[in-house]
Amino acid sequence: MKLSMKRISPGRMILKPASFHMAFEKLRKAKFICLLLFPLLACSSGKKEHPEDKLTEADLVAKHHDTTVLEAHTMAALDTGKLEKRLIDAGLVNIQELLPEVKVALKYSTEDNFFGKDVYGELSRCYMQPEVGEMLKNAYRELKSRHPDLTFLVYDAVRPQSVQQILWDELDKPDSIKPLYVADPQKGSLHNFGVAVDLTLAYAGSGEPLDMGTGYDFFGYAAYPDREEEMLASGKISEEQVANRKILREVMLAAGFSGIGSEWWHFNAYSRKVAGEKFDIVK
Ligand SMILES: [Zn+2]
Repeated sequence: MKLSMKRISPGRMILKPASFHMAFEKLRKAKFICLLLFPLLACSSGKKEHPEDKLTEADLVAKHHDTTVLEAHTMAALDTGKLEKRLIDAGLVNIQELLPEVKVALKYSTEDNFFGKDVYGELSRCYMQPEVGEMLKNAYRELKSRHPDLTFLVYDAVRPQSVQQILWDELDKPDSIKPLYVADPQKGSLHNFGVAVDLTLAYAGSGEPLDMGTGYDFFGYAAYPDREEEMLASGKISEEQVANRKILREVMLAAGFSGIGSEWWHFNAYSRKVAGEKFDIVK
């Protein structure tokens, strides 16, 4: 399939709208569309699902980085002060109060994310369930014992349902295909429960992130942990990048987190079932 793309930054591509339509129709007809992972959907399910289809990596990357998904008009205004109060009232903890050494850069508080929109406003602190914070503390201890020069750089943890709702409402697509782009806010996601964490490793001194082979929110196969051997063999990622990912995975898994097959940066503290039993969705 030929797709018309233009490179906007290393590792990021967008489709022109007309080409996207054609490409999407082809993808839809391929019957495997339901297996495609999209950022907020994949980050929400916690399942080790990934395409078993014949789609090319270019198809996936192009689909995931379609910047036509959001209307150009302004996002619904979000009162950041109220949002943060809701997180605190919900009993969530600011991870940097538990772990001051950990670095935080909320990608959804910038325009450097899949949607190209700042949906967190002025929110700069990262919140999660206290139990998950304790697990992350254990992972951090494990990391420091193995690599004293490294720290965590957290991109996202709790993603309130209200933010998920904004993304859902702003998505300029028929309701029937919206779930392919954004997790349904009514069903909730592991990020909505505050039990999922997106993070990478960084040098403690400079704060510079380690090279993981792709950036956050890169949704081609090069970001798939369960395709690392294949990506390594084809030269898409290097031994060093895989080694860096392994450090992150090992310390997170040692603390009780589980990863998913399609995003090296995403870790769940609990399954969807357990999260639903233990916690309420954060509004
Ligand atoms: Zn995630």
